[in-house]
Amino acid sequence: MVLGAGITGVTTAWYLRRAGFEVSVIDRQNAAGQETSFANGGQISVSHPEPWANPAAPLVALRWLGRADAPLRLRPRIDPAQWQWMSGFLRECLPWRSRRNTAAIATLAVHSLTELRRLRKAAGIANAYDARARGILHLFFETQQFAHARERMAALAPFGIELRACDAERCVETEPALATLAPRLAGGLYAPGDESGDAMRFSQALADVLTGEGVRFHYGTTIERLSASDGRIVGVEVRHAGGGDTLRADAYVVCLGSHGRQLLRPLGEKLSIFPLKGYSITAPVADTARAPQVSLTDESRRIVCSRLGERLRIAGTAELNDYRLDIDPARIAAMLEWATTCLPGAIAPEQTVPWAGLRPSTPGGLPVIGRLRHERLWCNTGHGPLGWTLSCGSASALAALMRGDAPAVDFPFRRG
Ligand SMILES: Cc1cc2nc3c(=O)[nH]c(=O)nc-3n(C[C@H](O)[C@H](O)[C@H](O)COP(=O)(O)OP(=O)(O)OC[C@H]3O[C@@H](n4cnc5c(N)ncnc54)[C@H](O)[C@@H]3O)c2cc1C
Repeated sequence: MVLGAGITGVTTAWYLRRAGFEVSVIDRQNAAGQETSFANGGQISVSHPEPWANPAAPLVALRWLGRADAPLRLRPRIDPAQWQWMSGFLRECLPWRSRRNTAAIATLAVHSLTELRRLRKAAGIANAYDARARGILHLFFETQQFAHARERMAALAPFGIELRACDAERCVETEPALATLAPRLAGGLYAPGDESGDAMRFSQALADVLTGEGVRFHYGTTIERLSASDGRIVGVEVRHAGGGDTLRADAYVVCLGSHGRQLLRPLGEKLSIFPLKGYSITAPVADTARAPQVSLTDESRRIVCSRLGERLRIAGTAELNDYRLDIDPARIAAMLEWATTCLPGAIAPEQTVPWAGLRPSTPGGLPVIGRLRHERLWCNTGHGPLGWTLSCGSASALAALMRGDAPAVDFPFRRG
């Protein structure tokens, strides 16, 4: 029984089904991919495995303090778990920890892209989610930042991640829609192997295929509690339009995004996952020639941009705050301003749809994949800013672990 039908839960259901399990999925929404997987940046960003907790992060956060357009905003509350998370984050900024976490994420991301390519073919959904295999171009507006580009290329090459350094002219050759931006560019790093696509459409298309294969989706069903007895999980107490129920299975996999921590806490299971809120805007393309085909990452402002069919999605910012999903108009205005100045004429700004989502984030950026302390309890969650990128690799690894096989990827899995 998979708890949660976001990108992580649906891919988990796919690999468990492939491994021969009988699978059902529970979600409080009425369809798959309605929460954090709904309108994310759309990037399959294998070329950016560096976690947010890195040696430069504390200083960068201080520099941004108090700025309305700061990509990162911290609003500490009187919550010991949140302070613990923040001290964990600072610890993970140590150079050796950050290097170790980058290596684990890079290995998982490379594996995940291979799995994504296999999955979409096997499931027949390659055309269902506005997929685009045109790479990601990382843009640098500050010479000092671009000076580190070669170090980054060298650091990621051992994982098989190809990055090409580009001057401004080469950036425009790679993505002609950047022509007006060229004079401001210090340079770019192009990752030809990266992709983009709509995670929500992917989740829904895959859920449809799974439904056809007999996987049961219990939508509109809120999980209230996990019941345990003698150290093992014995059921999930749920509420739906028809009332309350207890659903039972032989094994339970937590894929509840930012909400898994609270559900597991009464059982004494500790997950250090906090929501890092982010925003996106989606707008119809106004002029095809001005809207990029290649997915973009603005490394200075931490904004990403993906072409999803005839729409452009722009996403960014991180706020460590609480679980509220209210939309800060200043954040939306900043993204709109980015779109209209960097890609003038590309979108129809008056038709912009704003959105906010909660990245389920661990201090070091590593997802929690594997077995928890209770018997029959498994977990595949905490993918933070890279849940779409890492989904297929994490899910295939979890299915292997649950079957008792060695996963095809080396990663610090949770082993109880
Ligand atoms: C602004 C932004 C941009 C991003 N850009 C990218 C990107 O470009 N590339 C990338 O790889 N990643 C990106 N991400 C991260 C990615 O979107 C997330 O990591 C991913 O969506 C997490 O998926 P999930 O399945 O773990 O969580 P979710 O999609 O949130 O799924 C959890 C599910 O659990 C259900 N649920 C929760 N509680 C309960 C309950 N009590 N009962 C029943 N159901 C429940 C929810 O309804 C939900 O469907 C971005 C995130 C944000 C916010």
